[in-house]
Amino acid sequence: MIDLHTHSTASDGTEPPAEVVASAARAGLSVLALTDHDTYAGWKPAAAAVPECGVALVRGVEISCSHEGTSVHVLAYLLDPHHPPLVRELARSRESREHRIEAMVDRMAADGIPITLEEVRAVAGPGATLGRPHIADALVARGVVATRDEAFADILRGGSPYYVSHYAPDPVRAVELVREAGGVPVMAHPFAAARGRVVGDDVVEEMASAGLAGLEAHHPDHDSAQRAHAVDLAGRLGLLVTGSSDYHGTGKANRLGQETTSAAVLEEIESQASSGVEVVRP
Ligand code: AMP
Ligand code: ZN
Ligand code: FE
Ligand code: FE
Repeated sequence: MIDLHTHSTASDGTEPPAEVVASAARAGLSVLALTDHDTYAGWKPAAAAVPECGVALVRGVEISCSHEGTSVHVLAYLLDPHHPPLVRELARSRESREHRIEAMVDRMAADGIPITLEEVRAVAGPGATLGRPHIADALVARGVVATRDEAFADILRGGSPYYVSHYAPDPVRAVELVREAGGVPVMAHPFAAARGRVVGDDVVEEMASAGLAGLEAHHPDHDSAQRAHAVDLAGRLGLLVTGSSDYHGTGKANRLGQETTSAAVLEEIESQASSGVEVVRP
């Protein structure tokens, strides 16, 4: 069982990186990719847990992107974590995320929702890429909502008066940078309209021309029509098809191994990588 999309406390998952690897072993996975938002901070502790857990680790990242205001997520596997232009882009996104969280908290506080930036920072792991799920956790701690889900249904949703966007690179640029860094770019949940606005096929085509390797057709947020559309488009554009859980620990209902990727597709991803960053095997 191969699951190529998970999050740890390096971003907005609820388990530290080594625990995600341990959970993957318990769930019966043979290969797991750690793909925290806009950071490589979980790579080292996750890799250190591989020998005792017996699960292979694909080191990755989920790059926040924006195409004319529409959010796009690009998964990148086995890339050189030192590639300077990408390091700069990720740092810029993380910093913008901090200001954005501060702005959202300010709007909420001005409207009588009792929450502070310090509280949000306290629920996030040290140095974690801050995201709306951390605001949700702070709201849960305050008793304002019961769960992350409840916070996202109202206060934190895209159209909420408290919503503020953050800087993110264009997805075509991100795909180019991942290839420059010797990595393999796959578009995450391409047609998950339940999460908000999605881009049209034309943008996916542009990303494919720039070097996109695959589409994550099988994702918990895709219904059967969206999966079929992604599989069909991948076929037409000569792209790989992946499936993954987007596990966030207890922060989301998604279970490890809920969606999976075939061994043949993982082999192709590995063969396309040219960074020297390899799969960490037990
Ligand atoms: P952000 O990147 O800060 O805009 O926040 C988006 C993140 O929130 C994504 O990683 C999602 O996985 C997570 N998210 C979105 N909706 C929910 C939800 N209903 N419950 C928990 N997490 C969610
Ligand atoms: Zn997330
Ligand atoms: Fe995502
Ligand atoms: Fe994700």
